[in-house]
Amino acid sequence: MLVVGVTGGIGSGKTTVTDLFAAQGIEIVDADVIARSIFDSTSATGQQALAAVAAKFGPQALLADGELDRAWLRQHIFTHPEAKQWLNELTHPLIRQQILEQLAQASSPYVILSAPLLVENRLTQLCDRVLVVDVDEHHQRQRTLTRDQVNASQVDAIMAAQASRTERLAAADNVIDNNGEPAALTKQVERLHELYLRLALAKADNN
Ligand code: ATP
Repeated sequence: MLVVGVTGGIGSGKTTVTDLFAAQGIEIVDADVIARSIFDSTSATGQQALAAVAAKFGPQALLADGELDRAWLRQHIFTHPEAKQWLNELTHPLIRQQILEQLAQASSPYVILSAPLLVENRLTQLCDRVLVVDVDEHHQRQRTLTRDQVNASQVDAIMAAQASRTERLAAADNVIDNNGEPAALTKQVERLHELYLRLALAKADNN
């Protein structure tokens, strides 16, 4: 199965773009959704992750009902960088495993892996092609401020923690320009969809 990684910084338009691919019948595996579900206590993976966190940080990391105390953990890793690293080492292999399982279950002609941190977390290794949704910093900041309940300095801090526009573009096989109107995305997605269908056929022929 051909895997197309889609990435872009905060507010760049990844979801808007992947919705257009989904409308063409392409399945989307969303790394953000998987990351949020890693501590889901109803799954075996979630229980394993919750037990590891309780063993590391003690019962204070869990709520009375056994769910993760996300507020406590967020505050703790903010002040303890080594705890953040430990948590990444716990969750990243679990997230990767879930991504691989969902990619393997996909049944569309090709599959998209959508991940804001595709480049930063080296998920590009799982992809045949990397598509970057590119937007200049001015539009990125404005759209994020319009959408989210955040202020300009919070947006700037998130942007500074992500790969730079140049680093992301260096990893791109294809680029979607999202500096224009949303309507301008449709044609770009249609053209890329045709390309990915051809590449998917070529890959199937080679196997
Ligand atoms: P994040 O990673 O922060 O979740 P994202 O990359 O998925 O963001 P979207 O949610 O698709 O980005 O887009 C960010 C915001 O900008 C949304 O409110 C979306 O409706 C809007 N938006 C996307 N593309 C355009 C555009 N071309 N013109 C105006 N607004 C846009």
